[in-house]
Amino acid sequence: MLALNNIQILYDRAIEAVRDVSLEVAQGTIVALLGSNGAGKSTILKAISGVLYQEDGEIMSGSILLDGERISGAAPRDIVCKGLLQVPEGRALFATLTVEENLLMGGFTRSRSEAADGLDTVYGLFPRIKERRTQVAGYLSGGEQQMVAVGRALMGRPRLLMLDEPSLGLAPQIVDTIFEAIIKLNAESAMTVLLVEQNAQLALQTASYGYIIENGRIVLDGPAEKLRSNNDVQEFYLGFS
Ligand code: ATP
Repeated sequence: MLALNNIQILYDRAIEAVRDVSLEVAQGTIVALLGSNGAGKSTILKAISGVLYQEDGEIMSGSILLDGERISGAAPRDIVCKGLLQVPEGRALFATLTVEENLLMGGFTRSRSEAADGLDTVYGLFPRIKERRTQVAGYLSGGEQQMVAVGRALMGRPRLLMLDEPSLGLAPQIVDTIFEAIIKLNAESAMTVLLVEQNAQLALQTASYGYIIENGRIVLDGPAEKLRSNNDVQEFYLGFS
C-alpha cells in the first residue's frame, strides 16, 4: 500500500536526518518503526504526510508511493484526502476548542452524516472523552488528549493511520485503551497502521512487521516475532541482557 524508496532527507541543506531508507507497509497490516531519540522516525512520518518542505533548507530525495501512485511532493491536504492521516507526536490539539470541536475538525473532508458516524465510532472506542465532549481540550489529562488526537484522525476515516509515539508519557491503563482501539480498528475495518514507537515491547506486540532505525538508517527489519527473539533487539530495545 505504502512504499518508501531510497529516501534521503536533509535539514538545513546539510544535516542528514534520513539516509537511504526504503520500507513498505502492506494493506491491512500494522507495521512498527522503532528507534531511539533522534533516529529519524518523526522525520520519516513528516515526509510521508507531506509536511516537510515547509521550512527553508529541508530537502528530500527518493520517492514515496501510495497504492503505486507517487505522493512525494504532493500537498499535505491532498495526502489527507487520499486517506493517509497522522496523529502527531505531542498531539497538537486546538487547546481552546472543545473535545467535540477538535474531533469535528478531523472530519472536515467528510459529509455531515459521515462526521456523525465518525463521532459515534470515536465515542464508542473512547467513552471517557464522550463524557468530556463539551470541555475545552487544553484542560484534559495527557491520556484524554491522546484519545482526542487519535479520535480526530479517525474522523477522517483513514485507510492508513500513522501514529507518532502514542504511548509517550501516558499511564499504562491509557496506553492499553489506545492500543486496544488500534488493534480493533485494524482487525474490524482493515485499517492499515504505521506505528512509530520508542516502546519496542509494546510496538512488537502490536505490529506484525517492524523496522529498526538508527542514525537515519534502517539497520534491521523483519516479522515482529523474529525481531522479538533477535539478540540485539532484546539487548538494545527490549531491555534484556
Ligand atoms: P524522537 O523520538 O526524539 O522524536 P526521532 O527518531 O523522531 O526522535 P527526528 O525528530 O526525526 O527523530 O530527528 C532526526 C534528526 O534530525 C535528529 O538529529 C534531529 O536533531 C534532526 N532534526 C529534526 N528536525 C530538525 C529540524 N527542523 N532542523 C534541523 N534538524 C532537525
